[in-house]
Amino acid sequence: MDSTSNSKHRLVVLGAGESGTGAAILAKDKGMDVFLSDSGTISPKYRKILEEENIPFEEGSHSMDKILSADEVVKSPGIPLDAPVILAVRGKNIPVISEIEFAGRYTDSKMVCITGSNGKTTTTMLIHHILTEAGLDAGLAGNVGNSLAWQVARNPHAVYVVELSSFQLDNMYDFKANVAVLLNITPDHLDRYDYKMQNYVNAKFRILQNMTHKDVFIFWQDDPVITEQLKHIVTEASLLPFSEHQEEGSAAYIDAENELVLNTPATSMTMPRADLALNGLHNVYNSMAAGLSACLFDLRKDDIRKALSDFCGVEHRLEFIADIDGVRWINDSKATNVNSCWYALEAMDRPTVLILGGKDKGNDYSEILPLVKERVTAIVAMGKDNAKIMEFFGPYVSRMADTHSLAEAVEACRKFANEGDTVLLSPCCASFDLFKSYEDRGRQFKEAVRALIH
Ligand code: ADP
Repeated sequence: MDSTSNSKHRLVVLGAGESGTGAAILAKDKGMDVFLSDSGTISPKYRKILEEENIPFEEGSHSMDKILSADEVVKSPGIPLDAPVILAVRGKNIPVISEIEFAGRYTDSKMVCITGSNGKTTTTMLIHHILTEAGLDAGLAGNVGNSLAWQVARNPHAVYVVELSSFQLDNMYDFKANVAVLLNITPDHLDRYDYKMQNYVNAKFRILQNMTHKDVFIFWQDDPVITEQLKHIVTEASLLPFSEHQEEGSAAYIDAENELVLNTPATSMTMPRADLALNGLHNVYNSMAAGLSACLFDLRKDDIRKALSDFCGVEHRLEFIADIDGVRWINDSKATNVNSCWYALEAMDRPTVLILGGKDKGNDYSEILPLVKERVTAIVAMGKDNAKIMEFFGPYVSRMADTHSLAEAVEACRKFANEGDTVLLSPCCASFDLFKSYEDRGRQFKEAVRALIH
């Protein structure tokens, strides 16, 4: 790839977040000529690391002469494919790869990779929990934990459990998963895919590329988008589909006795559904995907059962906050689209006061209307502009509040909720109108709720 045989490979990294900084460190350790460029402000944490590592970098703008002299570019998943800097790099025929693709070149460890529109982080963390509880040396990477590149360079593991977004998959070519999990595909991020669903589906299915007959593909059998796409795909990987009830070929399902059944060519096991740590049908699917992945490693069944039943869950995903005067408060701030709110409502077993709102990504609320009619006793809209929510649900929900701050929203919930009810923050929307991020929204919500205790 080098222009002269003795010149160093020049790797330019675009974006100085967790993945970019990790890629730069791995490149440095491999003796490359590395340069990192970030058009925004680099967070103090990563600036300090770059300085300590003596990695040349810039922030606030892109020096195109330095960037276009690259042999190869590692792009942060946050930078769109049509950003001017990427178009310029492409115009010079410089290959653009993701940090995962880059890191994958320098390790032979087993890769368990998880993608889907919803449930990635939960399933990734659950698989990691099972593998480590059962004694395997497993690293957590991708959108969670430390970057894969950093771990490969400085803290290697025998197995990596890697959460992959479609943006990471976009720039993966030779990387190979040993176990690939595809949880579901519903429309999301279409603005990054020319508003064409098929482009998004194709990105998700890149998780299958390069897999051989020794590898395994785990997927949700009831997803019409996945099953349709599979008709057009040729893969050597063994297929392990999961579904709620047993269907032809199901490797995991819930049987008539309410037992979770896991069947792989090497292992068969069951456990009561009621013993699963995570509630809700969506988490049954996530547990099936995680359980099947775990069955592919030579683990004790009792360890798998125990880990599926003692997992603590992930912050901001149907996270129980407190029971105050008989009202249960739940933080599901990560539900930034309508489909994930559907699953949150599906998991509610008590009358629910629902907090909705934020930055609308073109939501169609009709998907949750039947569950709202059945389970929701009041809606509290929380956002800068709540008109769409107020109009849509107005005819169906008699008690509604139009609020513009977290404090107002919590106060409205307190008035609406009676003993025996649940208050659920599952907003269907991004958070950027009132908050920095969904984490910020979730944490502020938890603080406000905990303040009610005193
Ligand atoms: P991701 O990392 O894909 O965004 P998370 O595990 O963070 O997924 O969960 C995000 C939200 O999606 C959760 O709040 C939950 O309501 C919903 N969710 C989780 N798992 C699933 C699933 N398998 N199917 C549909 N929705 C899910």
